[in-house]
Amino acid sequence: MSATPDSECSCSEARAHLEAFLDHECSADLTERLAQHVASCDHCSRLADAETHLRQILRSRCAEQAPPELRARVLGRLSMMRVTSQVSVTSSSVTSSADGTVTRTTTTTRSIRIERD
Ligand SMILES: [Zn+2]
Repeated sequence: MSATPDSECSCSEARAHLEAFLDHECSADLTERLAQHVASCDHCSRLADAETHLRQILRSRCAEQAPPELRARVLGRLSMMRVTSQVSVTSSSVTSSADGTVTRTTTTTRSIRIERD
């Protein structure tokens, strides 16, 4: 039985740190070990490739601006619809009369109105 050297990184460790590794958020030491593992491990290298690819897609999607006409349409629709909500919290009052009768009054008012200009 040969013990695994400390410097060698396992698949589970590589996977646990993969996101941080791709974001360059790992320490130089860990980055080095992860890079070595990914380079030598077929499975992890594929995983890193897929993850990197996904990131590139996401980044290009985010960088992409929505077409101005679409933005205007969405904003126009939002401003057309104005939601007014009036919520008054349940108020309860307990009245105790002289003869010992306790009266509890609970009032709840809740109304949501949708206004269109
Ligand atoms: Zn691996």
